[in-house]
Amino acid sequence: MQNIGEKKHLLTAISELPQMTQDRMSALHELGIYRVSNLLKHLPTRYETHHGGMTIEAAKTILGDRDSSPELVTIETTIIKVSPGWRRGRKSKLEVAVEDETGRMHINWFNQPWVARALHPDMRIRIHGSLTMHKGVLQMNNPRWEEIDDEEPTATIEGDLRPVYRANEHISSSVIAKLISDVLDDALPEIDDHLTDEMLRELEMPKLADAYAMCHKPEEEAHAKEGRRRIAYDELLLLQLGVMMKRHHRRDTMHAPKLEWNNEIKKRIEARIPYTLTNSQQQVIEEIANDIMTSIPMNRLLQGDVGSGKTVVALHAMLMAVTCGAQAAMMAPTELLAEQHFQTISNLLKGSKVKTALLTSSLSGKDRKKLISKISEGDIDIVVGTHALLTDDVVFSNIAIAITDEQHRFGVQQRALLRNKSDDKHSIPHTLVMTATPIPRTLSLTIFGDLDVSTINGMPPGRSPITTRLVQPAQSNKVYQFMLELIHKGQQGYVVVPLVEETESGLKSAIAHAESLRTGFLQGATVGVVHGRMKSEEREKTMQEFREGQLDVLVATTVIEVGVDISNATMMIIEHADRFGLAQLHQLRGRVGRGTLPGVCALIASPTTEDALLRLETIVETTDGFRIAERDLEIRGPGELFGAKQSGIAPFKVARLPRDFKLLRLARRNAVKWIKQDPTLQHSPLLKSRLMHAHGEALGLGDVA
Ligand code: ADP
Ligand code: MG
Repeated sequence: MQNIGEKKHLLTAISELPQMTQDRMSALHELGIYRVSNLLKHLPTRYETHHGGMTIEAAKTILGDRDSSPELVTIETTIIKVSPGWRRGRKSKLEVAVEDETGRMHINWFNQPWVARALHPDMRIRIHGSLTMHKGVLQMNNPRWEEIDDEEPTATIEGDLRPVYRANEHISSSVIAKLISDVLDDALPEIDDHLTDEMLRELEMPKLADAYAMCHKPEEEAHAKEGRRRIAYDELLLLQLGVMMKRHHRRDTMHAPKLEWNNEIKKRIEARIPYTLTNSQQQVIEEIANDIMTSIPMNRLLQGDVGSGKTVVALHAMLMAVTCGAQAAMMAPTELLAEQHFQTISNLLKGSKVKTALLTSSLSGKDRKKLISKISEGDIDIVVGTHALLTDDVVFSNIAIAITDEQHRFGVQQRALLRNKSDDKHSIPHTLVMTATPIPRTLSLTIFGDLDVSTINGMPPGRSPITTRLVQPAQSNKVYQFMLELIHKGQQGYVVVPLVEETESGLKSAIAHAESLRTGFLQGATVGVVHGRMKSEEREKTMQEFREGQLDVLVATTVIEVGVDISNATMMIIEHADRFGLAQLHQLRGRVGRGTLPGVCALIASPTTEDALLRLETIVETTDGFRIAERDLEIRGPGELFGAKQSGIAPFKVARLPRDFKLLRLARRNAVKWIKQDPTLQHSPLLKSRLMHAHGEALGLGDVA
């Protein structure tokens, strides 16, 4: 490896670069760019073919008699007039008239109000974009633009392909291009490659330095793609190596209690369950059983759509431990859910010798102490709780299985923290992580890449379909009328609102909305409220009243998003549905249609953004969680999903899923091979240090490597 002295250019702070201004510097900082190395990693988002400057007259001939043209042209013009068009909320239009010596044209900027502040008559600007003809006037919409400043050198890059960089209000793509182009030749030779020439030959990929050159200064699109592919591969490879390293460590140096399981035990457990398990549930139970009958710690993800019946599988798994005289724990993301799981499990185990307990942070200090001591003495067999289970003083006597429900609410690193009091540092419980938000295959290979995956397909028998409708706010009276009719038939409903308290934005809050429903649309019905800021006893009391049918309607915030299981509740109205994420809407809707009565979900919204509309359309279109998850991935990108953020794993900068799925599989295959040969990467120090830098902390690789 080269030492710092030899990385002089890469490590140069951007403040040292010529033509750096305070404004540009803070703009670059905002983009996460502090040094030249960051600057190089700021890859173009796309490329434009540069036609060179032309006159307005010439541009008209390019357009010919078409109304618009996809070609991009550059024109140097002088501003005649800047007129604010219109402004509605966050949408705006700015109209600017420009001319050159051959004619006039109009430019429209949509939703970029700051552009207006930067422009004034007589200013000379270079505009770059595609052309349209509107009512006989030549126009450009949202062109890229820069001031023509005769003092400062043009930021235009040579060559036909012009890279376009992510920029912001204070720095333009062309300035970034200029900065990069200035440092590129000096900095590139300083980039070391962590892959050997031989590997690269096999992969048919360029060296890292060449890849950066190809991205920033492509001679043709194909080069840019090649360069990007190499850099994306690196990103995917690093994460896969990290994940595989961890997996290897777990399987090789850690161990878990080896449990027993056989048909007789299976029958005994099944006798406690008041219905027949579906084939899919049985299959998953077999998979879990196969894992826990070895001392290799299980690390399994159980995915099953909302309502598919994961809880009973979890109970089954926990009872496998209890039958063998060991303990089990189940963690839920909210108190509400933990309370409900505890109830379900206690009911199913009524009359058995199994001792269960609930541990949440609402437990008083004294009760908590008592419970913790019982847990560590082995007097409790099954503990259900929230993350309150994860505090240092909770130590088990002999925990064999730890289950986490609704994993995406936790960070990945919070797994496997439950431990025994024995000081065997290499002993951990078998772990099962359950999620109702199906993880698209593309993602399950990345963030959750060290997990084995089990899937519950389909639903328990007897479920009715859910009808989902998008309703304009003006029509909400009809929706509530419908709910009232169902209530008169003895059914119940949920009304979900985004916030707890009223705010200026006019969003409906749970408390205020419940009040207005009692006196308005739902007059005569009993309406309760639950939200996240309630004391847990109070909330549990309300939930209990709802469960027992004393309340007809529950107005709630997203606290009821996961797990709440009340089959007589058949209708859900979601106010401001455009405010919720896709996964969230799917989870919320999953609260209805859980029994044999058909479910109804009304989404009240008038979506104002494209994304919101897409989300709502998707939810109306399908109830298939896998489809929804894939769509979510398309709409939002993987960074936002499934706790990718909470997991602390750096989002991909270059790789894009699902687009790069093939590349991901390649990276995974190679990572598996690599770790097999060199489990701690001791023979590839540069690669290892890059891996530790990128993911060491998030993946908890510290004690692995
Ligand atoms: P989720 O997977 O969303 O956690 P639950 O475990 O809460 O789903 O199960 C949803 C409902 O389905 C529960 O009321 C449960 O009792 C019921 N259930 C689960 N498995 C079956 C089955 N095999 N047959 C009938 N009902 C089932
Ligand atoms: Mg559940």
